[in-house]
Amino acid sequence: TQIMSRGLPKQKPIEGVKQVLVVASGKGGVGKSTTAVNLALALAANDSSKAIGLLDVDVYGPSIPKMMNLKGNPELSQSNLMRPLLNYGIACMSMGFLVEENEPVVWRGLMVMSAIEKLLRQVDWGQLDYLVVDMPPGTGDVQLSVSQNIPITGAVIVSTPQDVALMDAHKGAEMFRKVHVPVLGLVQNMSVFQCPKCKHKTHIFGADGARKLAQTLGLEVLGDIPLHLNIREASDTGQPIVFSQPESDEAKAYLRIAVEV
Ligand code: ADP
Repeated sequence: TQIMSRGLPKQKPIEGVKQVLVVASGKGGVGKSTTAVNLALALAANDSSKAIGLLDVDVYGPSIPKMMNLKGNPELSQSNLMRPLLNYGIACMSMGFLVEENEPVVWRGLMVMSAIEKLLRQVDWGQLDYLVVDMPPGTGDVQLSVSQNIPITGAVIVSTPQDVALMDAHKGAEMFRKVHVPVLGLVQNMSVFQCPKCKHKTHIFGADGARKLAQTLGLEVLGDIPLHLNIREASDTGQPIVFSQPESDEAKAYLRIAVEV
């Protein structure tokens, strides 16, 4: 990562954490969490000397527990901090570890803010080279308070090539600029679908939309991820593709993105 954090005065680093990468999207369902999980695994796979953590602040719809095949209550350290749960070599913390699985989070703003504060400040990460943060979709209170509370090395914005997703990705990028978080680039997810039988390629959500948006905003496209059954199945079974099929083309797409950030 070439861009260093530019902390605003009231930002305080998370203890033991060197770099924070946030993965964000304008819209939900575009593959933000899938990207966050596979990016964390790819950073670890590209350099085994690096310690990587994954923090899920998507408080209304935490998906990291399922995708990383983790559940349970975090233990407390001697200083009363929560210890992350570990799988595939990645230290993970999620709202999903703190509430029951099928219990909806029906919270007012203040409760959400205190949950975010807890996730940001009451976790004992040990020493991490990178903390990958899975943001909620959109440009609301949570995104703002995370951006204003901790120094962020950079934001990765995930979008499909579809206009409605790109419009919201554009707003997301502008929000990060406003709060002085460097945007490292866009990931174009679900860029193409190749029929496994006849090999014909279909751009289900349009072609190259993210590339055009990146040009408009003066940003890089960090990579394209195809719409692929293996990616979905791997996530649903809690065996993310970068971990379970590292030699596949789909995993390699994530591994290349990890080199770019
Ligand atoms: P978000 O975090 O943006 O809401 P998710 O990462 O949860 O999105 O992805 C939404 C759904 O799409 C999930 O079921 C996920 O497995 C699937 N998905 C995401 N990216 C891909 C992809 N490239 N190919 C196939 N399925 C994908």
